[in-house]
Amino acid sequence: MILDKEHLRRNLDEVIWRIEEARISVSEHHIVQLVGVGKYTEIENIATLYELGQRAFGENQVQQLAQRMDALDELPLQWHMIGSLQKNKINKLIDLRPFLLQSLDSIELAEELNKKLEAKAQKMNALLQINAADEATKSGVPTEQAYDIYQQIKESCPNINLKGVMTIGAHSEDTKVIQKSFEDTYAVFDKVQKEGATICSMGMSGDFELAIKCGSNLVRVGSALFKS
Ligand SMILES: *Cc1c(COP(=O)(O)O)cnc(C)c1O
Repeated sequence: MILDKEHLRRNLDEVIWRIEEARISVSEHHIVQLVGVGKYTEIENIATLYELGQRAFGENQVQQLAQRMDALDELPLQWHMIGSLQKNKINKLIDLRPFLLQSLDSIELAEELNKKLEAKAQKMNALLQINAADEATKSGVPTEQAYDIYQQIKESCPNINLKGVMTIGAHSEDTKVIQKSFEDTYAVFDKVQKEGATICSMGMSGDFELAIKCGSNLVRVGSALFKS
Protein backbone atom coordinates (compact mmCIF):
# COMPACT_ATOMS: atom_id res chain seq x y z
CA MET A 1 0.00 0.00 0.00
CA ILE A 2 1.28 3.46 -0.86
CA LEU A 3 1.21 5.56 2.29
CA ASP A 4 0.84 9.32 2.38
CA LYS A 5 3.59 11.59 3.58
CA GLU A 6 1.95 12.62 6.86
CA HIS A 7 1.34 9.01 7.76
CA LEU A 8 4.96 8.07 7.07
CA ARG A 9 6.12 11.15 8.99
CA ARG A 10 4.26 9.91 12.07
CA ASN A 11 5.74 6.42 11.72
CA LEU A 12 9.25 7.81 11.28
CA ASP A 13 8.90 10.25 14.19
CA GLU A 14 7.71 7.47 16.45
CA VAL A 15 10.60 5.17 15.52
CA ILE A 16 13.16 7.95 15.92
CA TRP A 17 11.70 8.91 19.28
CA ARG A 18 11.86 5.31 20.51
CA ILE A 19 15.49 5.06 19.33
CA GLU A 20 16.26 8.34 21.14
CA GLU A 21 14.83 7.14 24.43
CA ALA A 22 16.71 3.86 24.25
CA ARG A 23 20.05 5.35 23.22
CA ILE A 24 19.94 8.10 25.83
CA SER A 25 19.35 5.48 28.50
CA VAL A 26 22.70 4.02 27.43
CA SER A 27 24.61 7.29 26.99
CA GLU A 28 24.12 10.70 25.43
CA HIS A 29 27.13 9.89 23.31
CA HIS A 30 25.75 6.61 22.03
CA ILE A 31 24.76 7.24 18.40
CA VAL A 32 22.47 4.80 16.59
CA GLN A 33 21.96 4.61 12.85
CA LEU A 34 18.52 3.76 11.48
CA VAL A 35 18.33 1.63 8.34
CA GLY A 36 14.84 1.45 6.85
CA VAL A 37 14.01 -2.02 5.59
CA GLY A 38 11.83 -1.77 2.53
CA LYS A 39 11.35 -5.41 1.60
CA TYR A 40 7.60 -5.50 2.34
CA THR A 41 6.76 -2.02 1.13
CA GLU A 42 6.37 -0.13 -2.13
CA ILE A 43 9.19 1.82 -3.64
CA GLU A 44 7.08 5.02 -3.43
CA ASN A 45 7.17 4.79 0.37
CA ILE A 46 10.96 4.62 0.33
CA ALA A 47 11.08 7.76 -1.81
CA THR A 48 8.71 9.53 0.60
CA LEU A 49 10.80 8.54 3.63
CA TYR A 50 13.80 9.99 1.83
CA GLU A 51 11.91 13.29 1.50
CA LEU A 52 11.34 13.10 5.25
CA GLY A 53 15.07 12.79 5.86
CA GLN A 54 15.76 9.07 5.92
CA ARG A 55 18.85 8.12 3.87
CA ALA A 56 19.80 4.52 4.64
CA PHE A 57 17.74 1.60 3.36
CA GLY A 58 18.17 -2.16 3.34
CA GLU A 59 16.89 -4.98 1.17
CA ASN A 60 17.23 -8.71 1.68
CA GLN A 61 17.33 -9.83 -1.95
CA VAL A 62 19.87 -8.83 -4.57
CA GLN A 63 17.21 -8.69 -7.28
CA GLN A 64 14.98 -6.30 -5.33
CA LEU A 65 17.99 -4.26 -4.25
CA ALA A 66 19.01 -3.88 -7.89
CA GLN A 67 15.54 -2.78 -8.99
CA ARG A 68 15.21 -0.22 -6.23
CA MET A 69 18.69 1.19 -6.56
CA ASP A 70 18.00 1.63 -10.23
CA ALA A 71 14.55 3.19 -9.81
CA LEU A 72 15.76 5.60 -7.10
CA ASP A 73 19.07 6.23 -8.80
CA GLU A 74 18.82 10.03 -8.62
CA LEU A 75 18.45 10.06 -4.81
CA PRO A 76 21.63 10.01 -2.68
CA LEU A 77 20.62 6.92 -0.72
CA GLN A 78 22.83 4.59 1.28
CA TRP A 79 21.98 0.98 0.42
CA HIS A 80 22.49 -2.03 2.67
CA MET A 81 22.22 -5.69 1.69
CA ILE A 82 20.80 -7.48 4.74
CA GLY A 83 19.66 -10.89 3.46
CA SER A 84 21.41 -14.17 2.67
CA LEU A 85 23.64 -13.81 -0.34
CA GLN A 86 23.58 -16.74 -2.76
CA LYS A 87 26.88 -17.49 -4.44
CA ASN A 88 25.41 -17.01 -7.91
CA LYS A 89 24.40 -13.42 -6.98
CA ILE A 90 27.81 -12.28 -5.79
CA ASN A 91 28.88 -10.64 -9.05
CA LYS A 92 25.61 -8.82 -9.34
CA LEU A 93 25.94 -7.47 -5.80
CA ILE A 94 29.50 -6.32 -6.44
CA ASP A 95 28.36 -4.38 -9.49
CA LEU A 96 25.70 -2.63 -7.40
CA ARG A 97 28.37 -1.31 -5.01
CA PRO A 98 26.21 -1.34 -1.88
CA PHE A 99 27.32 0.76 1.07
CA LEU A 100 27.39 -2.30 3.33
CA LEU A 101 26.81 -6.06 3.09
CA GLN A 102 25.43 -6.88 6.54
CA SER A 103 24.96 -10.59 5.99
CA LEU A 104 28.36 -12.15 5.41
CA ASP A 105 27.51 -15.46 7.04
CA SER A 106 30.33 -17.95 6.41
CA ILE A 107 34.02 -18.20 5.68
CA GLU A 108 33.21 -19.93 2.36
CA LEU A 109 31.05 -17.00 1.25
CA ALA A 110 33.76 -14.56 2.33
CA GLU A 111 36.40 -16.37 0.29
CA GLU A 112 34.18 -16.54 -2.79
CA LEU A 113 33.26 -12.87 -2.43
CA ASN A 114 36.88 -11.89 -1.95
CA LYS A 115 37.91 -13.75 -5.10
CA LYS A 116 35.27 -12.04 -7.19
CA LEU A 117 36.04 -8.63 -5.69
CA GLU A 118 39.68 -9.12 -6.54
CA ALA A 119 38.84 -10.01 -10.14
CA LYS A 120 36.88 -6.77 -10.43
CA ALA A 121 39.49 -4.76 -8.50
CA GLN A 122 36.90 -3.70 -5.95
CA LYS A 123 36.40 -3.68 -2.21
CA MET A 124 33.26 -4.12 -0.17
CA ASN A 125 32.31 -3.16 3.38
CA ALA A 126 30.73 -6.03 5.28
CA LEU A 127 29.53 -7.23 8.68
CA LEU A 128 29.96 -10.78 9.91
CA GLN A 129 26.51 -12.21 10.65
CA ILE A 130 26.32 -14.18 13.88
CA ASN A 131 23.63 -16.77 14.54
CA ALA A 132 23.57 -15.81 18.21
CA ALA A 133 20.30 -17.59 18.96
CA ASP A 134 21.67 -20.76 17.37
CA GLU A 135 18.51 -21.26 15.33
CA ALA A 136 18.51 -23.63 12.35
CA THR A 137 16.32 -21.21 10.37
CA LYS A 138 18.88 -18.41 10.65
CA SER A 139 22.15 -18.00 8.88
CA GLY A 140 25.33 -16.76 10.46
CA VAL A 141 28.37 -18.16 12.18
CA PRO A 142 28.11 -19.72 15.66
CA THR A 143 28.82 -17.23 18.45
CA GLU A 144 31.69 -19.31 19.87
CA GLN A 145 33.51 -19.27 16.53
CA ALA A 146 32.65 -15.72 15.52
CA TYR A 147 35.81 -14.02 16.78
CA ASP A 148 38.13 -16.55 15.13
CA ILE A 149 36.24 -16.46 11.84
CA TYR A 150 36.32 -12.66 11.94
CA GLN A 151 40.13 -12.79 12.26
CA GLN A 152 40.39 -15.39 9.53
CA ILE A 153 38.38 -13.25 7.09
CA LYS A 154 40.45 -10.20 7.98
CA GLU A 155 43.63 -12.10 7.20
CA SER A 156 42.61 -14.02 4.10
CA CYS A 157 40.15 -11.62 2.42
CA PRO A 158 41.90 -8.29 1.81
CA ASN A 159 39.15 -7.04 -0.53
CA ILE A 160 36.53 -7.27 2.22
CA ASN A 161 36.53 -4.43 4.75
CA LEU A 162 35.03 -5.98 7.86
CA LYS A 163 33.30 -3.25 9.84
CA GLY A 164 31.69 -5.24 12.64
CA VAL A 165 28.93 -7.73 13.33
CA MET A 166 25.23 -8.27 12.71
CA THR A 167 22.65 -10.51 14.33
CA ILE A 168 18.94 -11.19 14.22
CA GLY A 169 17.56 -11.44 17.76
CA ALA A 170 16.28 -14.78 19.03
CA HIS A 171 12.81 -15.72 17.83
CA SER A 172 11.27 -16.00 21.27
CA GLU A 173 8.51 -14.63 23.48
CA ASP A 174 10.99 -14.58 26.33
CA THR A 175 12.74 -11.22 26.55
CA LYS A 176 15.63 -12.76 28.47
CA VAL A 177 16.36 -15.15 25.61
CA ILE A 178 16.33 -12.30 23.09
CA GLN A 179 18.51 -10.20 25.38
CA LYS A 180 21.03 -13.02 25.67
CA SER A 181 21.38 -13.25 21.89
CA PHE A 182 22.12 -9.51 21.80
CA GLU A 183 24.54 -9.64 24.73
CA ASP A 184 26.46 -12.54 23.21
CA THR A 185 26.76 -10.69 19.90
CA TYR A 186 27.83 -7.51 21.67
CA ALA A 187 30.56 -9.45 23.48
CA VAL A 188 32.05 -10.39 20.09
CA PHE A 189 31.68 -6.80 18.89
CA ASP A 190 33.41 -5.52 22.00
CA LYS A 191 36.50 -7.56 21.12
CA VAL A 192 36.66 -6.61 17.44
CA GLN A 193 35.90 -2.99 18.29
CA LYS A 194 39.29 -2.81 19.98
CA GLU A 195 40.75 -3.75 16.59
CA GLY A 196 38.88 -1.08 14.64
CA ALA A 197 35.35 -2.40 14.08
CA THR A 198 32.64 0.27 14.33
CA ILE A 199 29.24 -1.30 13.59
CA CYS A 200 27.11 -3.53 15.81
CA SER A 201 23.89 -4.14 13.85
CA MET A 202 21.15 -5.55 16.09
CA GLY A 203 17.46 -4.86 16.46
CA MET A 204 14.34 -4.90 14.28
CA SER A 205 10.82 -3.49 14.77
CA GLY A 206 9.97 -5.83 17.65
CA ASP A 207 13.19 -5.60 19.65
CA PHE A 208 15.28 -2.58 18.66
CA GLU A 209 15.05 -0.81 22.03
CA LEU A 210 16.33 -3.89 23.81
CA ALA A 211 19.07 -4.25 21.18
CA ILE A 212 20.19 -0.63 21.70
CA LYS A 213 20.32 -1.16 25.46
CA CYS A 214 22.60 -4.13 24.76
CA GLY A 215 24.95 -1.92 22.72
CA SER A 216 23.59 -1.92 19.17
CA ASN A 217 24.52 1.13 17.11
CA LEU A 218 22.60 0.22 13.95
CA VAL A 219 18.97 -0.90 13.85
CA ARG A 220 17.18 -2.38 10.83
CA VAL A 221 13.55 -1.39 10.97
CA GLY A 222 10.86 -2.38 8.47
CA SER A 223 7.31 -2.94 9.70
CA ALA A 224 7.30 -0.17 12.33
CA LEU A 225 8.28 2.38 9.66
CA PHE A 226 5.94 1.20 6.94
CA LYS A 227 2.88 0.14 8.96
CA SER A 228 -0.41 1.38 7.56
C1 LIG B 1 13.03 -7.96 7.41
C2 LIG B 1 14.29 -7.74 8.12
C3 LIG B 1 14.39 -6.69 9.06
C4 LIG B 1 13.25 -5.78 9.43
O1 LIG B 1 12.25 -6.48 10.10
P1 LIG B 1 11.00 -5.75 10.78
O2 LIG B 1 10.60 -6.69 11.85
O3 LIG B 1 9.97 -5.60 9.71
O4 LIG B 1 11.47 -4.46 11.33
C5 LIG B 1 15.62 -6.52 9.68
N1 LIG B 1 16.68 -7.30 9.40
C6 LIG B 1 16.62 -8.30 8.51
C7 LIG B 1 17.84 -9.14 8.26
C8 LIG B 1 15.42 -8.56 7.84
O5 LIG B 1 15.37 -9.57 6.97
